[in-house]
Amino acid sequence: MNTFKLLSEKGHRIGILATPHGKIHTPFFMPIATRGAVKNLNADELHKLKSEIILSNTYHLIQRPGLDVLKKQKGLHVFIGWKGPILTDSGGYQIFSLSKFRTLTRDGVTFTSEIDGSRVSLTPESVIDAQLTIGSDIIMVLDECPPWPCSYEFAKKSLERTLQWAMRSKKHFERSMKKRGVPLSTRPLLFGIVQGSTYKKLRDASAREMIKIGFDGYAIGGLAVGEPRALRNKVLEWNTLVLPKEKPRYCMGVGKPEDIVDAVRGGADMFDCVIPTREARHGRLYVRNSKKTITQDGFYKIIRIKKMVFANDKKPIDMHCLCTTCQTYSRSYIRHLFSIQEGLALRLATIHNLSFYLSLMRELQTL
Ligand SMILES: [Zn+2]
Repeated sequence: MNTFKLLSEKGHRIGILATPHGKIHTPFFMPIATRGAVKNLNADELHKLKSEIILSNTYHLIQRPGLDVLKKQKGLHVFIGWKGPILTDSGGYQIFSLSKFRTLTRDGVTFTSEIDGSRVSLTPESVIDAQLTIGSDIIMVLDECPPWPCSYEFAKKSLERTLQWAMRSKKHFERSMKKRGVPLSTRPLLFGIVQGSTYKKLRDASAREMIKIGFDGYAIGGLAVGEPRALRNKVLEWNTLVLPKEKPRYCMGVGKPEDIVDAVRGGADMFDCVIPTREARHGRLYVRNSKKTITQDGFYKIIRIKKMVFANDKKPIDMHCLCTTCQTYSRSYIRHLFSIQEGLALRLATIHNLSFYLSLMRELQTL
């Protein structure tokens, strides 16, 4: 069943993705709720920001609160009070980001918890089961995200493992759906992940093999791990040329506003990144330059709200922003909140930065 409807390809792709918890307009950005919370915001604030989906992380949720708690709470949606769709990362990115704390085998990966030293083992099958318990709308297969740069041999070996895991994931997912008697119409979506570092031959092979296995959507993984912008755009181009037009494409971990615009123009539909929420917590806030279009350099700037220069600034963060922070508070007040380390500062800043990102996506949805 194809849950993705492509409405336009003129300029760039615009569409609608249907999930068990509702439809999402593409291209879209997913605020990150790694452990079940978008830092400093509650579900109601996310709804007000018109976020249509959030992203959570399987590896971190297995650790805390744990699958037993989530099972008893009837899944993550009920637990965190979020009614919209949720996509869950598999833990593949943690193979990259927590490389000092894990052992890889043919069968899966074992992490030594950075919290209490306990061991967490993930296999392609256990990751699917965990995401079914979480109640994800979009389930990601377990993959290995290689570092950049890495040798061709390393990338090839890593890709072989990722492909083996993808086959096992699909098989296990189908078997689980059958066993649970889940009708096609209410099934979560299962996404495969294309890897192959920055080697064209491997990227092409990876995309072709993933298509053969057959998924509801395809992620382009292994990007935003330190490679230059031009090379990232090249990899994206290789992959989008091979991936089927009628399926959604998720560009994992990308990124800065200009990188998202690049990737949308390059044929990607879905994005996630910690940048807007993390930057907000550090007082770095996005201001749109209304004189420039989003395809022009310098279409936004970042202001450092903690600076003295804002101490008496009565203007909102961004004159054109419609978020509640900009509609209500001055730069002066937000700077004051940061200077006294008031938690409200983080909340107001996060609301604004996410509003900037989500407005950018809405603009891309209508161009
Ligand atoms: Zn704002």
